[in-house]
Amino acid sequence: MMYIVLMGGPGAGKGTQAKQLQKELNIPQIATGDLFRENLRNETELGKLARTYMDAGELVPDEVTVAMVKDRLSQPDCAQGVIFDGFPRTIAQADALSALLGEMGEQVHIVPYIHVDPAILLKRLAGRWTCSTCGRVYHALFNPPQQSGICDLDGGTLYQRDDDTEETQKRRIDVYFEQTAPLLDYYRDKGILVEINGEQSIAQVQKDLIQAIRNIA
Ligand code: ADP
Ligand code: AMP
Ligand code: ZN
Repeated sequence: MMYIVLMGGPGAGKGTQAKQLQKELNIPQIATGDLFRENLRNETELGKLARTYMDAGELVPDEVTVAMVKDRLSQPDCAQGVIFDGFPRTIAQADALSALLGEMGEQVHIVPYIHVDPAILLKRLAGRWTCSTCGRVYHALFNPPQQSGICDLDGGTLYQRDDDTEETQKRRIDVYFEQTAPLLDYYRDKGILVEINGEQSIAQVQKDLIQAIRNIA
C-alpha cells in the first residue's frame, strides 16, 4: 500500500516521473491536469468549467477538483496505492485528500518534492510536447522523440498544450508559489516530505525517487 504525492512546480517533471513510476510500482497515476484535459476533449460540463481557469493559468476551484479526485479514487485500481501528480495544489485540497484516504483507512505515505529552479521551469515548459494518445511528455531539446512530432511508444501525434503559452506559463509558476508552495511546509511538518534534486537527468531523478520510496517501504 503506497499513496504518494509528487510535489514540484509546473515543469518540474512530475508527469514524466509519474508515468515511469506507475510501471515500476504497479499503481496508477492520478494527474488532475490530465483528467481535466480529458474532460476538455470530451466536451463535458466539467471540461467547459475547467477550461476558463486552465487557459488563464489559474486553479480550478477546490470543490470541483476534489469531487473529480474522489470519483477517481473510488475505482478499484486505486486500492493498492496511487501516485498523485498535480494534486493537491492548495491546503484545502490536501486536507480533503487526507479525509478521503482516511475513509479508506489510508494516508499519504511520502511526498517527494522534485526541486527545480524557476528559471529552468520556464525552459522546460517552453519546449514541452505531449502525446495526444498516451499523454507521455517530451521536450524539444532535453528529451526529444526519435522522430519529430511522433510518440516513440505508440506513434501518436505530439501537440503543445493550449496553456503552454509564455504568459500562462508565467502565471502558473506564480500561482504555484502563492497557493501550492505552502504545502511543502504542510507535509514537512508531518515528516513525510523528501527533497529530490530535479535538475538531474530524467533517469537519475527516477532512481532517486525509487530509492526514497524504497527507504520508507
Ligand atoms: P510537470 O508534470 O511537473 O509539469 P513534465 O513532466 O510535464 O512536468 O515536464 C516538463 C517538461 O520538462 C517536459 O518537456 C519534459 O520532457 C521535461 N523534463 C522533465 N524532466 C526533465 C529533466 N530531468 N531534465 C530535462 N527535462 C525534463
Ligand atoms: P497540470 O497538467 O498539472 O499542469 O495542470 C494544468 C491546469 O489544470 C492547471 O493550470 C489548473 O488550471 C488545472 N489543475 C490541475 N490540477 C489542479 C488542481 N489540483 N487544482 C486546481 N486546478 C488544477
Ligand atoms: Zn504516446
